[in-house]
Amino acid sequence: MPTARSSPRKRPINRVSISSRSKRLRSTSPEMGLTSVLFSNDDFYKAEDDECAEDDFYVADENIPAFDPNKLPVRHLMSYTIYDLETGQILPLPPFGRTCGASGRVRPEFEGGAIDTQDDDSDLDDPATSSQQVVRLSKIMEMFLDTENFVEPEIWIRTAIAWYILDDPSQSYRPYLNCIYVPHLLTCILAANHCSPDCSDQEVIDVLDYSSKDGVYAACKHLIGSNILDSIILNLPFIILITKEVEVRENLKALDETKLSKRSKNLIRNKAIDHTPFVTATISKIAQGLFYRILAITEDNALENPSLENICVAKDPFVVHKDDPVKIKWGNQIPGVRDYYQSVYLDGVEYSVIVGDAVAVEPGRDANRRREANSFLESARTKNELGNQAWFCTILYFFGEKTGDKIQKLFHGRWFQHGSQTILAETANPQGLFLLDQCDSNPVSSIIQKIEIRQLNADDTEPIVLAEQDVGSSTFHFSFKWKEEQFSFSSPIFDEEDELVALLCPEKHRACYPCVLRYQRDLLSNCIKTTSSIDFCGQCYHLHDFVYVKSNRDLLRIAQITDLMPASGNAEIKVSIYDRSSGTQKPTDERMLFPTDKSRIISASSLDGHCYVEMESKIVDLASWVQNSDCFIIPGHLSKRFKLRQCETCSAAREAWAEAKEFVVKDRLKALDIFSGAGGLSTGMELSGFVKTCWAVELSRGAASSLKTNHPEVEVYNQDCNALLKHAVEQRAGKNPEPLQSLDDISGRQQLPPLPQPGKVDLIMGGPPCQAFSGMNRYKKADDVRPKYVLIENVMGLLYFRLQGKQRGQKIVGGIESGMVKFILRAFTSLGYQVQIKVLNAADYGSPQQRNRVIFWAAQLGVPLPRWPTPTHIPRNGHNHTVRKVASGNIPLASRQSLDSEGGHRHAPFYSVTVLEAIDDLASPHDLDY
Ligand SMILES: [Zn+2]
Ligand SMILES: [Zn+2]
Repeated sequence: MPTARSSPRKRPINRVSISSRSKRLRSTSPEMGLTSVLFSNDDFYKAEDDECAEDDFYVADENIPAFDPNKLPVRHLMSYTIYDLETGQILPLPPFGRTCGASGRVRPEFEGGAIDTQDDDSDLDDPATSSQQVVRLSKIMEMFLDTENFVEPEIWIRTAIAWYILDDPSQSYRPYLNCIYVPHLLTCILAANHCSPDCSDQEVIDVLDYSSKDGVYAACKHLIGSNILDSIILNLPFIILITKEVEVRENLKALDETKLSKRSKNLIRNKAIDHTPFVTATISKIAQGLFYRILAITEDNALENPSLENICVAKDPFVVHKDDPVKIKWGNQIPGVRDYYQSVYLDGVEYSVIVGDAVAVEPGRDANRRREANSFLESARTKNELGNQAWFCTILYFFGEKTGDKIQKLFHGRWFQHGSQTILAETANPQGLFLLDQCDSNPVSSIIQKIEIRQLNADDTEPIVLAEQDVGSSTFHFSFKWKEEQFSFSSPIFDEEDELVALLCPEKHRACYPCVLRYQRDLLSNCIKTTSSIDFCGQCYHLHDFVYVKSNRDLLRIAQITDLMPASGNAEIKVSIYDRSSGTQKPTDERMLFPTDKSRIISASSLDGHCYVEMESKIVDLASWVQNSDCFIIPGHLSKRFKLRQCETCSAAREAWAEAKEFVVKDRLKALDIFSGAGGLSTGMELSGFVKTCWAVELSRGAASSLKTNHPEVEVYNQDCNALLKHAVEQRAGKNPEPLQSLDDISGRQQLPPLPQPGKVDLIMGGPPCQAFSGMNRYKKADDVRPKYVLIENVMGLLYFRLQGKQRGQKIVGGIESGMVKFILRAFTSLGYQVQIKVLNAADYGSPQQRNRVIFWAAQLGVPLPRWPTPTHIPRNGHNHTVRKVASGNIPLASRQSLDSEGGHRHAPFYSVTVLEAIDDLASPHDLDY
């Protein structure tokens, strides 16, 4: 019985006395439902505010949902309530003939170590206990008792997603449980007494007193291990009650020999044996100390690139200015420019722009408050002491600036940020820096010392400092630019940066890319008007262009430019309005537009990009026209009395774009779908037109066979992806591993098809990450054989998952907030992948469901990191699709990629689809033949 170890035993709250209950126990058959007699049973479960659905709850480090109940993950459900799924009525155990579910706080089953059983009880009332997510389970499909400890048998329930061991009822559920628990204890005593009459009265009283579990154990100890146990236990009223309805009784008998407890042990054992994540040595180094589960390492270290292993243990060769330098002397002047210098001497040490010196500087005040605050956050601390104390930048130029009658010696530099101050935080490499698009002018006296920053090449493995190594080094490495507002790590393209600087920077001696970026942004936010066009936010608008116009409402209006008004100075233009509906009628098709007589003079700043409109009668291929969400139609019946004028330039550009897309579509990315399930992600990605799923790995037989049926052209591997990875790595290392069998083949004769050849896979995509990203590291050596892209999709729970937390009683304390997210990002960047993360909501893209998903998009160095899709739909109520709470510094939600620099404004061309709208035209269920 799962009593609450950490809450004091109390007499049952219900009003029926023990004796009268025992009488009922004898006189009431289990079928009548003992507990329903005892309760008025008009209590209803009230969902907690932050309750999340079981599908949306994610437990990292857990094996993946499989359809074989014996391989489902095992979790604990604490502070639970069991209730009728339809009515919410709280149900006693067992829930006779009801469709029941449960809610409670979920924690994963930890294997080995880290479980602090000495937890003090006072913690229970600590609000932090409630840090465990409340989860609303789906339908309970199975229930059984683990009677190894027959005094407190564990109740196991199973949903489609996991097994749950019921730990501790909620306050409101406790009475429901007690009314079967107390008779159970009594029966234990009676049984014990029967077997061994020397059970003392006091021991019986102890049980009835109900405050000491030890009493029960003492009374029952002679039973433990005796043969009579099974026959008694199987006939305990409690067990009969529990098992009666849930059809486990037959199982109980069948499993009699092996004892039930073994079954539960097997559940755990299966999990451990079958699903040990298999990772390469690089990943295992990053994972050091972050996971409780053992990560098996491929033996194939030869595939790792050791060439840069040692760069981080170089001796510190640089002079450190412990205090402000005493002597500051200018070096060479920049030829022909007054007050600008190529170098400076601080206490005799030369700092020079010519050799591209990078320096550590004393932190000062920072416009980015979070960055400043981060320097003092515990989570942002790193083993590299310089990383904790200093900021980093490359020097671009030195100059003197007159303040009052003094000349201040300054340098202009571009910032780098230490990895520990990016989202990577605790998981960051102590020697890793990230380039920022930010710059500042700082006093020369703030320089602490020189540092060395080495840029890694695409085929370099990130040097990883091991725990025992000295990391006081001032030699850093970098590969990526960190863009905090986008949560992306992308590779800087210096050629493009230089080009832009050459183009826009008026003074060569003040060349600085971040400065130029700011300048460009200012330029773009100004309208530039000529007689034939108007430039605004990087878009060029012409006469007769169709445009989106921001209005007070969320929905973008559609209009056509009818006059650029070249004489008007303040960027005003004249547009004629197109309506979404014709007069009184409700819009029937969101792509239909109706010309109106209305025209307006608007400011160019309310323009929000182009759209394309065509007469229905002129569209040859309607299906491909509407594939682009920016394409609209004027209904055919208007063609006689309405003449549509078009901008030739923009029509041609749109056609060229469509052709280019056609061309890309012909050469689609070949994808490998890991954790494919029945192929949902694959189908979605294929709809984009850019991806073709060629291979899929799925552990579950059912899902694999359904995938095969729906996508016969896909090579389906019904296997554990870790086994596949291990196999692939061994094969590449020239070993001769045993051929892998398909799991759906009971005879064991059917071998899996050969794995895709190195270099064939363009994109790896998949669900749960900890195994998925291990897969992408499979072919380490030759750069051209790694996939160009990796996409990981996951439920929101991933954002909240803490790594390295310690189990204390019923809660996980400490650990790394959003640790799993950080670990995934770290793994990608370590492997040389650019990566970005975002929460996307299906409703923003026209799906009738509000489904938030965490998406990681990664791309090899050198290929462009794909842009997030621009949301096309906006909810009618004007609210954005929000997430309750996003840990770890607000990972950005999807928002329309605004064409203006502010970003994230709340407009879209369409309203979200409601479920009703989506299913409106479906046949009534009664008409369907089931
Ligand atoms: Zn600058
Ligand atoms: Zn145009």
